[in-house]
Amino acid sequence: MFETIAFIGLGNMGGPMAANLVKTGYPVRGFDLSETAKLTATESGITLCDTAAETLTGASIVITMLPAGHHVLSVWSELVEVVDQGTLMIDCSTIDVDSARKCHALANEAGCLSLDAPVSGGTAGASAGMLTFMVGGEPDALNRGRPVIEAMGRRVVHCGSAGAGQAAKICNNMILGITMAGVCEAFVLGEKLGLSHQALFDVASTSSGQCWAISTNCPVPGPVPTSPANRDYKPGFAAALMLKDMRLSQEAAKSTGAATALGAHATELYELFDQLGHGGEDFSSIINTIRDRSP
Ligand code: NAD
Repeated sequence: MFETIAFIGLGNMGGPMAANLVKTGYPVRGFDLSETAKLTATESGITLCDTAAETLTGASIVITMLPAGHHVLSVWSELVEVVDQGTLMIDCSTIDVDSARKCHALANEAGCLSLDAPVSGGTAGASAGMLTFMVGGEPDALNRGRPVIEAMGRRVVHCGSAGAGQAAKICNNMILGITMAGVCEAFVLGEKLGLSHQALFDVASTSSGQCWAISTNCPVPGPVPTSPANRDYKPGFAAALMLKDMRLSQEAAKSTGAATALGAHATELYELFDQLGHGGEDFSSIINTIRDRSP
């Protein structure tokens, strides 16, 4: 018997995630503010509701997939006014750790279980049900949510208590932002030194420079045919989302006192890149700005 799931935020990620729950057999009651998201959700077999609170009728699990911390806090504050005790509340959005912990506290006060469970894998992973979930919260909550999470993803990592999932996501994406900027700088330096893209790729992808930014999302066309560089930098992972995650990492660094000089510098690079109007491109196209700054 499948539990009914309330799903709020049916955008580029939430839409296909909720659709996978329906495919698995879960009845899903959904809410979103956008007409486009609502239309796609209906086509996926999701029962649309007029408010976030209405999705809770008959539901024992709630999932939110929203843009930022203030959206999640606002929706969770509304939900906890009407939610049944014992409901499992899961937030899959990428948000700041402080807001995630506030959400856990709200759920706790309402007698609910809760998880922060941000994802990696992008829209392709969401559609294919191949996301990785980084989970923060109590083991009991994860045991209860695991079958539902596994209907949307292929890997679940329990990172620790409340907020630990968001902490892992932010740290991982800070590594990604820094390594991509570094890989792009190396390719531009290689060009200046007369090195072919293929030669640098062949060495770095099999040596100590190896990383996802080079071996999967290589920022120059050619060496990795599936990387966004081969399709005019169509995302992939949009630079605006990379910037959002880099900013979250820097807010967290500031509030904890962690020295993240490289993170701070990479954040500035993505800010400049976004201001130049490239926020909708894959973040690897930052190589073009680095090249432009290398006369
Ligand atoms: P999106 O903008 O496509 O979807 C967000 C949806 O939330 C929109 O449809 C919007 O209408 C809806 N929404 C906003 N406020 C709402 C409210 N108060 N009530 C109901 N609905 C509301 O964004 P997305 O790409 O789906 O990303 C969602 C989250 O997942 C973000 O936190 C993002 O950082 C994270 N994420 C995105 C990706 C990606 O590749 N797109 C990858 C990993 C994580």
